[in-house]
Amino acid sequence: MAGPVVVREAPTFEVRAPATGRTLGSVPVADEAEVRAAVAAARRVQPAWGGLSPRQRSVRMLELARVMERRADDLAACLIAETGKPRLEALASVVVGVDLIRHYARVAPRHFRRRRVGTGWMVWKRAFAQREPLGVIGAITPWNYPLILSMDAVVSGLFGGNAVVLKPSEFTPFTALMIPALCREAGLPDDLVRVVTGDGSTGAALVRAGVDKVSFTGSTAVGRLVMSAAAESLTPVILELGGNDAAIILEDADLDRAARGVAFGSFFNAGQTCISVERVYVLRAVADAFLEKLVDVTRTLRAGVQEERDVGPIITEAQYVKVVEQIEEALARGARALTGGLPTAGSRVIQPTVLVGVDDSMRVMREETFGPVVPVIPVESEDEAVARANDSSYGLCASVWTRDRARGMRVGGRLRVGVVSVNDCLSHYSIAGLPLGGIGDSGFGRRRGLEGLDEMTTVRSLFVDVGALGREPWWFPYDRAGERLTRAVLALRGRGGAAGLMSAARRILGR
Ligand code: NAD
Repeated sequence: MAGPVVVREAPTFEVRAPATGRTLGSVPVADEAEVRAAVAAARRVQPAWGGLSPRQRSVRMLELARVMERRADDLAACLIAETGKPRLEALASVVVGVDLIRHYARVAPRHFRRRRVGTGWMVWKRAFAQREPLGVIGAITPWNYPLILSMDAVVSGLFGGNAVVLKPSEFTPFTALMIPALCREAGLPDDLVRVVTGDGSTGAALVRAGVDKVSFTGSTAVGRLVMSAAAESLTPVILELGGNDAAIILEDADLDRAARGVAFGSFFNAGQTCISVERVYVLRAVADAFLEKLVDVTRTLRAGVQEERDVGPIITEAQYVKVVEQIEEALARGARALTGGLPTAGSRVIQPTVLVGVDDSMRVMREETFGPVVPVIPVESEDEAVARANDSSYGLCASVWTRDRARGMRVGGRLRVGVVSVNDCLSHYSIAGLPLGGIGDSGFGRRRGLEGLDEMTTVRSLFVDVGALGREPWWFPYDRAGERLTRAVLALRGRGGAAGLMSAARRILGR
């Protein structure tokens, strides 16, 4: 007798609004087969897209920028619903995405031109290097910037001539789900950008799905898992991971600007920014004055879920708990909160918190906080500030604040990070031409800038013989002529110039 037919319910993930706790909807958790089907569909359309010239692709991509501009309010509304960001920050996300497209449309055609490579003494040869698409990019993104981080990968991938399969965070999938519709409206081929929703299991399936490169943005712990899984198939990866960015306030800094800048760098997006200011080292001579100003600015910030807000809620419950635990531990071990502190239960809003009296062993100092909390530590000298800023396994960004720009650049040059700002922080992200990426536990590879395009392409070298020689002198069988030529090359390398040429000629003639 046949048993009952069991219909497997496809698992789904319920998404809730961080501001209200209201359910926004559910998305499927795509399994291995669904992820592979998405990669296969993307792979089918990629050759035609990759076969366009870089200029043709740029023209098509500019249409995507125009669609995004038209849909800016829809995108912002979706971002606000699933992240609780203030409206200005949501709109800024759209601007950053559009800017990247417009920038690449300007620079990519030239950057991707075939490059002639000199052949030196082999004057009867021609050599070229040409950037080529990789194929299908698997992009895995986190929840803190659902639009920017997805668009960084999608835009650079498409300009590189690839198709992209995007796995957004399970906590914020809806903005990413708008991207294929925007592409369709822009007239880009169907399936060129596919979105697969789901949790870590879907991300892991994407890494195993035979994509040609994985672009991962997320935590260091998951970055390690992704890299080790990708090693199985030798799939290349780019890892954009966490940070614990330091700001150094020197004694000659404009303290008003430094205080405003640090407040922005620490509390923008409620501190849920990989490149946020997470530690401040201030020269003792100006520490009190700086703190007073930082506290004044911080007290003016409106934190909450109301329409007019500067600092919104923490996006995920797990992240909220982590930030609260870090504050708790710091306070229990003697730190003081000059503003904010432990939140009252009831919402996921954490008031912007300035901590003093911390020490380097506290979690808030050693770990990435990813919340609106900033510890301020007085130091005795520039050298101490640099040493303590560098005392971190992370190496994403840092900032130096001083009225002496040359000094700022010099001190910045001593910091072990991927991006240094002088008298600013965070704003560098809006420069589409500036590469971003880290070292150490912050990962490797670069996105944005020309380097971001290079990540999404491979290089094919082309070597062409244009001479009339029946055989090269160094081919089999080995003979005196080949040896004479080799000695001539050595002579040329050793001396160069006219003397080298003479010496080489003598060797070719066997003298
Ligand atoms: P996360 O590492 O938990 O998740 C990131 C993504 O990976 C999600 O889409 C998740 O579903 C997926 N994932 C989880 N397990 C996976 C697995 N085993 N294989 C493949 N994919 C898997 O990070 P998060 O909590 O979503 O985001 C916060 C982190 O992201 C912070 O550490 C932050 O610093 C980092 N981040 C870095 C940058 C940067 O550019 N360096 C930018 C933004 C955020």
